[in-house]
Order: sequence, then C-alpha cells, then structure tokens
Amino acid sequence: MMAQDLYRLIYLSNNEITGGNAIIQQEIGQILTISRLRNAAVGITGALMFNKNCFAQVLEGPHDQLQETFERIQCDPRHSNVIILNFETMQARHFTQWSMAYVSQEAADSEQFAKIQKDSGFDPNQLTGERIYDLLHVQFTGSRKKQS
Ligand code: FAD
Repeated sequence: MMAQDLYRLIYLSNNEITGGNAIIQQEIGQILTISRLRNAAVGITGALMFNKNCFAQVLEGPHDQLQETFERIQCDPRHSNVIILNFETMQARHFTQWSMAYVSQEAADSEQFAKIQKDSGFDPNQLTGERIYDLLHVQFTGSRKKQS
C-alpha cells in the first residue's frame, strides 16, 4: 500500500447507551468485538476512548475503507453528535498493532484520562484531535511523539 493512501480520522461523540455499568460494559464489549473483526478485515487500526458521557475515537487506514467504516459508525444510535476533530493523510500508522485499542475510565492511566476530562469537560471547543490523539498514543505505544 502506498503511504499516501493512509488517512487518520479523529472524532468525538456523545454516549447514548443508558443503563447500569453492566449494560454499558456489555454494549461496549459488543462494539469492540465487531470493530476488531471488521477493522482487521479492511485494514483499519485505531483506538477508542469512553467515559460515561462521550466517546472519542482515532481511526486510521486507506481512504475508502475508512470512509465506509465511519459512515456506519456515524449512523449508530449508541452515540450522537459525532464531531470530526481531525481528518488528514498520514505517512505511517501509529496504532499498528491495534484493530481497535480501548481506554475506559478504569484504564491504568486513569489519572491522565481524568485530567483531560477535567481540563476540557469533553467540551469539543476545548478538546482537540491532537490532544485525544496524544492521550491514546501514549497509552498504547508509550510514546508521545507524533511521526506523521
Ligand atoms: P449491523 O450489526 O447489521 O446493525 C445494523 C444497525 O444497527 C447499524 O446502524 C448499527 O450501528 C446498529 N446497531 C448494531 N448493534 C446495535 C445495538 N446493540 N444497539 C443499537 N444499535 C445497534 N464498527 C466498526 O466496524 N469499526 C469501528 O471502529 C467501530 N467503532 C465504533 C465506535 C463507536 C463509538 C460505536 C458506537 C460503534 C462503532 N462501531 C464500529 C460499530 C458500528 O457502528 C456498527 O454497528 C458495526 O460496524 C456493524 O455494522 P453493520 O452495518 O454490520 O450493522
């Protein structure tokens, strides 16, 4: 695959899954299972972040497959107000090993996660794609460096 075929998309959305923790965990589990299967099949990698109110997701892959996947995601009633924070070409993938990595509130790095929530309240005006990207990237690769 040519490097210039690669795109990165970062979005933020409101959670619409209601119910107790068990129900939410079950729904998220289903989202991750289908995501990992379908993403692996079409060469999409990335990471998903969840808190009670919001999702944030980084998707990377070839343009057409990314667009197709994102169109499905946008229609999903389990979230709403999907706002694209970033969509650009990239030289190389950053979540190479992850068809869909996951950060929950209970993640080991919850201190950092809590800080980002506190700083922004997940307000899209405050939260940039770069910030989400950095948080997810450091979580899964141990590196803050962006090499796009
Ligand atoms: P089907 O499974 O045939 O479902 C048909 C419709 O019902 C779809 O609109 C689907 O969104 C919706 N639906 C399915 N299950 C439920 C449910 N339990 N409750 C309510 N509605 C439901 N998919 C990926 O392939 N890759 C991803 O990276 C990815 N990330 C996601 C991130 C978030 C935050 C969310 C909410 C969903 C994500 N999904 C992802 C799931 C995606 O939205 C589709 O549900 C999934 O890809 C299956 O698509 P389908 O057309 O086969 O739908």
